[in-house]
Amino acid sequence: MSDTRVALITGASRGIGRSIAEHLARAGRHVVLLARNETKLAEVAESITQSGGSASIYVCDIGDSDALGEAVMSTAKDCGRLDILVNNAGILRDNLLLRMTDEEFDDVMRLNLRSVFVTCRAAARPMMSKRFGRIVNIGSISGVIGRPGQANYSAAKAGLIGLTKSVAKEFGAKGVTANVVAPGWIETDMTADVPEAVRTEAKALTPARRLGQPEEVASAVNFLASDEAGYITGQVLCVDGGMGM
Ligand code: NAP
Repeated sequence: MSDTRVALITGASRGIGRSIAEHLARAGRHVVLLARNETKLAEVAESITQSGGSASIYVCDIGDSDALGEAVMSTAKDCGRLDILVNNAGILRDNLLLRMTDEEFDDVMRLNLRSVFVTCRAAARPMMSKRFGRIVNIGSISGVIGRPGQANYSAAKAGLIGLTKSVAKEFGAKGVTANVVAPGWIETDMTADVPEAVRTEAKALTPARRLGQPEEVASAVNFLASDEAGYITGQVLCVDGGMGM
């Protein structure tokens, strides 16, 4: 495995994270799939292996900072390297600001922002030691333009942009890049329960006039995680059909 680049992807059991793992595996990376649901992770790993790729799984709740930091460090130790980190796992706890509870705010900050700080901190040393690293953090167009009902989510995703730019500046000289991919509306479990009227409104606000697919986000991540993208850092790439323009 020593010549093969190793990628750790959080939230890889379904949706955008699964697609990112499949793209990176097709590009020849060994992918380490992290989420809570062991059965689903094993299914994704099996499917990647069946297609000729290389995958392993790591069961972890990203809300547990100690366990998450350990997941990153043991991946680097067990695989002998950690080249690519994709912070994709995330949650929604939407509510109008006047009704939003402290718990709804804190849960989203913990899972969507603090977890990213934890993994970046843990990944920095193994990446710097090899003078190579690609960190891709999955933000959201909500973190760029805001969205009603998402004060918590928009704040966390906007914070993710600041965090990523700081990481890019701290580790740029060591060969480590850090970028954000900010999706618009993508068809996954996260958006499956959104009422039809809201989906119609989202399409109307999107120049492409449709929702996006996980593969469209994954291909952008795959590029930013590639060796060829070494001179791109601290950037926010919106994969949103033009919604955020
Ligand atoms: P999804 O279908 O709901 O999948 C979420 C993934 O995160 C799952 O693999 C889930 O796995 C994992 N996850 C959730 N909570 C976790 C926890 N506490 N610990 C570990 N893993 C956890 O979401 P998605 O639509 O693919 O979204 C992926 C990312 O894209 C998120 O950061 C989201 O904010 C962002 N995004 C999505 C959209 C969209 O329209 N879908 C738009 C903009 C941004 P388990 O449940 O097995 O743990």
